[in-house]
Order: sequence, then C-alpha cells, then structure tokens
Amino acid sequence: MLRRGSLCAAVLCVLLCLCACAQPSCSRTVYAMDTVMTLTAYGKDADGALAAAEAELHRLDALLDRHSGSSAVASLDRDGQVSSRELADLLIRAKALSSLTDGAFELTLAPVIEAWGFGTDAPRVPEDAELSALLPAVGADRISIDGEQIALAPGTQIDLGGIAKGHAADAVCALLVQQGISSAVIDLGGDVGVLGTKPDGTPWRIAVKDPADGSQHIGVLSAADTFVVTSGIYERFFEQDGVRYHHIIDPATGRSAQSGLVSATVICADGTDADALSTAVFVMGAERAHALYETVGSFEMILVTDDGRVLYTKGLADSFEPNRESGYAYEELA
Ligand code: AMP
Ligand code: MG
Repeated sequence: MLRRGSLCAAVLCVLLCLCACAQPSCSRTVYAMDTVMTLTAYGKDADGALAAAEAELHRLDALLDRHSGSSAVASLDRDGQVSSRELADLLIRAKALSSLTDGAFELTLAPVIEAWGFGTDAPRVPEDAELSALLPAVGADRISIDGEQIALAPGTQIDLGGIAKGHAADAVCALLVQQGISSAVIDLGGDVGVLGTKPDGTPWRIAVKDPADGSQHIGVLSAADTFVVTSGIYERFFEQDGVRYHHIIDPATGRSAQSGLVSATVICADGTDADALSTAVFVMGAERAHALYETVGSFEMILVTDDGRVLYTKGLADSFEPNRESGYAYEELA
C-alpha cells in the first residue's frame, strides 16, 4: 500500500472542465490508501452515491493495507495463510497480470520493498547480499489459492501497492453505477476513472502530468468510461550520494527499475488492469512495453523517457492532444 510520503503524488492528473454543466454535481475528498482522493458525481442522487463510494474505499483500505494489523493482507503476510474470497479473487487476477507481463508486475516484493524502507522515515540502500537473500522468496508462483484459501510459501509476503487503487477504482465505479450515477470522475491520486461522459455528452478531458514538473502537463486525453493510471519515479523516492532511488522495483534485480522511463500512463477500460499494467510497463521500458501492447491489444499507453520523449500508442492518435509547449518530443509508436 502507499505509505507516508505519497501525498505529493496524490493529484497526478488534473481534470479539466469539471464544471459548467446543467446537472447537479457533488464532490467529496476522501483520505484512504495513504492518498488524498477526489470523487465527483453528477445527478440528483450524487451525494448519497458518493457517501457509499467513500465507505467502500475505507472498506477496501481495511482489507488490503498490509500495514494495518487487522487486514486480510496483514494476516496473510504474518501467518502465511488467510481465508478471503475477495482477496483470493484479486490475487488470481494479480497472478495472471504477473504472468502476462513476464513477472514485471510482481506482488510478492513486500520484503524487498521493506528492505529499502520506501515510505518510512528511514529509507536505505540494502547490501547486495541482503537483496540476493530476499529474491528467492519473490515470485507469484509462491502464492497458492484454493477456493477462498490463500497460502504463501515460506518467506514470501505480498504488497498490493501496484494494484490496490486500480481495484478500488473499479469497485467505486461499479458501485456508482449501481447507485444510478452515469456521469462521474474519481481521482484516486494517480489512478483516475471516468464514468460515462460529461453531463453535456462530451468526453472528459484529462491532463497527463509532466513527470518533471507536477504543475505542468504533457498533454490532454479525451475519454469516456475509462481508467487512466500513471506510475512515475517522482511519486516516492529518496536520494543518497547523488543517486535517486525510487519505489518501482524491477523484480529481476530487487532494485529501482532502470528502464529509461520516468513515467508510464496506461489507459484501459478496466482499472485493475490499468494499475498493474502501468507499474509493469514502467519496469519493462519502451521496447518490451510496446511488444506487450501489440500482444495484449486492450490498452493504450503514454510513456515519458528519460531523454525527453513522449511516446504514445496509435490508438490514442485521435484522443491525445500533445502539449507542444512542454519541451518534449512527441512520437506515435508505430
Ligand atoms: P504504482 O504507483 O501503481 O506503480 O505502484 C507502485 C507500488 O507498487 C510501490 O510503492 C510498491 O508498493 C509496489 N511495487 C513496486 N514495484 C512493483 C512491481 N514491480 N510490481 C508490482 N508492484 C510493485
Ligand atoms: Mg500500478
């Protein structure tokens, strides 16, 4: 889960043109999953729907936060087993995403993340020997699921920080639909979901943050009924001896991913997939991510490279407007 220090990453995407519509709207700020979240819904029952959405976010936080002693994930990490239908369903999906991304998305990195101390007051660079000792316990195949029974192989612990907010975004959108809402924006701090269109029938416009300067954007996406999720190295990091260590770990090395990317945004009809894929794509780098894109075919992406390029997939040709004043070079991936 996201821990202390992640507040600065809370507002990843700026949503434009939220107002200026005839329908009544209601907004609510929620603090859950160590993140400031903003929910906005339109329609006459918007207030009640958002209250239910807030309750759902707190419920999911209490289920999935490995740092909360009573959560199912904390029990699993502590005891090596737990029984939870809901967690089992999420882990089945997470394991499939791990396999789809050739292990780039990896939910068993908890001991490695702990060794680095990301999100604590005392981050540190672990010794090579320490990481080598931890890596054998990393691997989605070390999680077994039988019905609602989940068990971990010895030494293995899970961390759902790379997927929990996407799952929460899916759950909140489903709940809002159940409550009769057909137009809403949920911003879970870097994981944005838009339900339907704006009340006037036009697409939502979502600004994608410039990873080098959070007050600027690299472009604007027009979107309806979709999720837009960004992973970036600026979200949580520390510096030591002039080197920046960030929180997205390459499972092959146990170290901050060095893939040539500074941010990866995934656009997808499913929030859980979008979240896991944004983390995975970041780890994979542009070339491997493009190969994944060609194989999977159900998502689009915008990658920012460490040499100042913005690469975007062909499915965004009509919906992504580059910000030509940003100083980046824009390339559509062929
Ligand atoms: P995100 O911001 O969605 O990319 O998720 C980053 C968070 O996911 C980190 O803070 C860790 O909790 C966790 N994480 C780090 N590296 C990975 C990885 N390779 N696969 C899955 N989760 C990861
Ligand atoms: Mg993610």
